[in-house]
Amino acid sequence: MTALTLLAYISAALLLQLAAGIGLAVWRRRRDGVGVTPPPPPPSADLAWPGWREFRVVRREFEDPGHSQCSFYLEPLDGSPLPPFLPGQFLTFAVATGDGQGSPLVRCYSLSEPPNPKHYRITVKRALAPARQPELPAGEVSNHLHDVVQPGDVLQVKAPAGRFVLDPARDMPVVLLAGGIGITPLLCMLRWCLAEQPGRSVHLYYGVRSAQERAFGELLAELERTHPAFHLHVVCSSPASDDRDCRHVGYIDVPLLRQTLPAGRHQFYVCGPTPMMESLVPALADWGVPLSDIHFEAFGPASIHLGPAEGTDDQAAAGVHFEVAFRRSGRTLVWDGRDASLLDFAERHGISVDSGCRSGSCGSCETALIEGTVGYAHTPDHPIAAGRCLLCVGTPRSRLVLDA
Ligand SMILES: Cc1cc2nc3c(=O)[nH]c(=O)nc-3n(C[C@H](O)[C@H](O)[C@H](O)COP(=O)(O)OP(=O)(O)OC[C@H]3O[C@@H](n4cnc5c(N)ncnc54)[C@H](O)[C@@H]3O)c2cc1C
Repeated sequence: MTALTLLAYISAALLLQLAAGIGLAVWRRRRDGVGVTPPPPPPSADLAWPGWREFRVVRREFEDPGHSQCSFYLEPLDGSPLPPFLPGQFLTFAVATGDGQGSPLVRCYSLSEPPNPKHYRITVKRALAPARQPELPAGEVSNHLHDVVQPGDVLQVKAPAGRFVLDPARDMPVVLLAGGIGITPLLCMLRWCLAEQPGRSVHLYYGVRSAQERAFGELLAELERTHPAFHLHVVCSSPASDDRDCRHVGYIDVPLLRQTLPAGRHQFYVCGPTPMMESLVPALADWGVPLSDIHFEAFGPASIHLGPAEGTDDQAAAGVHFEVAFRRSGRTLVWDGRDASLLDFAERHGISVDSGCRSGSCGSCETALIEGTVGYAHTPDHPIAAGRCLLCVGTPRSRLVLDA
């Protein structure tokens, strides 16, 4: 072998090593979600409105055989155009229940169909008293909407908001994991995706107890028939023996996903009841799904900690401890960084605080900050008044005294 050939071999080997190193680094960055485009910000607020706007209910219809989930179609009283929204966002409502004399209650409801210039649609599930405590009152606003609100009635509504949105910039296959009424934002994502990105594969896993509570049955069957990229998996925990639409018996879990999803990277969007969120979201991470590919929204209290929020330190890993005093509740507790927010922290310790969207948009959990500093991973959509803080997206940066 001549010196020249030897030099050529060495150069080729070095080049190969360099290429392999670059390839491995790129693969690692993609796997860990580093450098991947962040989720899009909410759409331009040009047409959005500040505060409350009046909407008339123009139509209502049940979506499930058991009549526990009702859609409300809403048109603005002022007749001006509706702002677009991103699939997955919600509206915030102030609803006067009972005799209408008390303060209105604030609740959020996801937009359950893609943007439409004329109307918005929400779908509300009647919240029953907890099965183990039937003596408690049933859900106040959802029952009021079901039992009292009719076409012609007017509701106070805040503009679309929320960061649990389908990322249109990533053409990766989408996996939507819905539990019960958690179907609403995911149905909106599904329909948007099939209309706007028809080549993008979408798997919807829809977990219900039985056919009685499966909503949007005909629509989902029709979408499955007409869109080859859409794969529907109805998962029933206690199906009737003659229920042929239940394709899997049990719960949505990682073993089911492993059996039924094609190999490769997917974007996961999860919305469902607390137990499902608290088990499935960490299970996806344990399965090896990069955190940047897991998106989730809880409709109520759910304690999910997957690691540091974007732009923050991992306080739990860093061993951070801050005293948090809830002055009106007369409790002083120690924050150890395990909770995703001060709201989760308060709820985990049985301290009752108002909440709505749980994502920094509606302002229901705004609380006077008597002492200390609260930090936010993202600038919240709701403008926070001086001397106050938002519990649902805030974490302590020092010892705190809160008026809660
Ligand atoms: C971003 C977001 C989007 C949402 N989207 C939707 C949607 O699309 N559709 C939908 O249906 N919901 C949605 N929700 C949930 C919705 O906002 C309400 O939380 C839900 O309708 C229940 O409100 P409620 O007033 O009927 O019940 P509440 O009065 O708030 O009661 C909630 C539950 O607590 C029970 N309860 C009452 N008193 C007590 C007590 N003393 N102790 C313990 N439990 C008690 C009630 O029986 C009921 O089961 C969403 C929530 C969020 C945060």
